[in-house]
Amino acid sequence: MTIGRIDEQQLKETVSFHGHWCPGLAIGIRAAEWALQEMGKSPDEEIVALVETDMCGVDAIQYLTGCTFGKGNLIHKDLGKNAFTFYRRRDGKAVRLVLRPTIYGDTGPLLGKLYHKSETQGLSEEEEKTWRETRAAVSKRIMESDMAQVFDFKAPQGPVPKKARIFGSITCESCGEPVMETRTRRFNDQVLCIPCFDELEKR
Ligand SMILES: [Zn+2]
Ligand SMILES: [Zn+2]
Repeated sequence: MTIGRIDEQQLKETVSFHGHWCPGLAIGIRAAEWALQEMGKSPDEEIVALVETDMCGVDAIQYLTGCTFGKGNLIHKDLGKNAFTFYRRRDGKAVRLVLRPTIYGDTGPLLGKLYHKSETQGLSEEEEKTWRETRAAVSKRIMESDMAQVFDFKAPQGPVPKKARIFGSITCESCGEPVMETRTRRFNDQVLCIPCFDELEKR
């Protein structure tokens, strides 16, 4: 299977990077497919992805688009939404992709119920089978639907995030570990890392 600019091999690598195949990963693959098509790949910080979830799909975005946490062009806003904003610095193009709830069809409540049961009392063999098959069907639908069926395309909710900057390190006067200077705190006359500061403040 090839999807947009993502070939079979890349799809396999994405699944092995994430660890398993699931609907969440499929969502991320489709978002990455859109980004590669419309924004291009990001060897540096040219493309920025702002993700509003820390779930499965973000792994596909990191693996496929070149927007990674370590480069600073993958930014997580902890809002618990399947929404992904891509920015292109060169011309300011920016689009927010929001998952359409209709992509789950009528399986949403069923999956929710089964998930809850699996966490509390475990699933019977029959339910296990339903769980697997339903998730596989949803993943397939996400992969095969038109892009406009998967996402709503909206305006970004803010300007392009600032470029990642590198700061010097200072040694924490309590634990002795070097810490980025923008993450230090002052307590009396000491310069401390955040955990040491929190520790002292608790006393
Ligand atoms: Zn997953
Ligand atoms: Zn410390």
